[in-house]
Amino acid sequence: MDDRLFRNAMGKFATGVTVITTKVDEHIHGMTANAFMSVSLNPRLVAISISEKAKMLEKINNSKRFVVNILSNEQKNLSMHFAGQLIEGVSVEFETIDDIPVIKNALANIICNVKSAYVEGDHTVFIGEVTELKLTDGEPLAFFEGKYGKVVKD
Ligand code: FAD
Repeated sequence: MDDRLFRNAMGKFATGVTVITTKVDEHIHGMTANAFMSVSLNPRLVAISISEKAKMLEKINNSKRFVVNILSNEQKNLSMHFAGQLIEGVSVEFETIDDIPVIKNALANIICNVKSAYVEGDHTVFIGEVTELKLTDGEPLAFFEGKYGKVVKD
């Protein structure tokens, strides 16, 4: 199997899109991620997977905290911006919850303390214990086969 086949297979799994945020020494860092899942209800745990190439990895290893910001379908530009794709005219608005930056108007801001980290292959899986939540009404941004889309409900 070649890498392209593997990537194409993973791209068949339609996801939402998040921006992970964290703060180290008053410096805010954000990064687009769709490798996110809910792990446990009791205790409340989530997982994210961060590439060894991403600057975010060192930031979370230092801060021991992160926020999963689930984007709305009006925030595609933010997803592209935080994936390092140059988008003109993007203005990023952060709010602060519990002393950590979150993306304003995201559908959900899920504030976590790092509970554990597992280096697996070229990624690190962080398990986050959820300490705070904020929800906002709206429609989700979706990602499928490498492209953005909208969710149509039945
Ligand atoms: P950089 O590339 O330096 O930063 C990312 C961008 O965010 C830059 O444009 C930077 O200017 C901007 N930025 C950072 N902080 C701020 C700030 N405070 N204010 C304003 N702008 C800021 N990679 C993974 O490891 N895991 C995933 O699950 C994952 N999922 C992805 C899903 C999608 C849909 C896409 C498009 C990409 C995904 N990526 C994922 C790739 C990842 O988003 C990019 O590789 C990203 O560029 C890595 O970010 P970085 O931490 O290295 O920082």
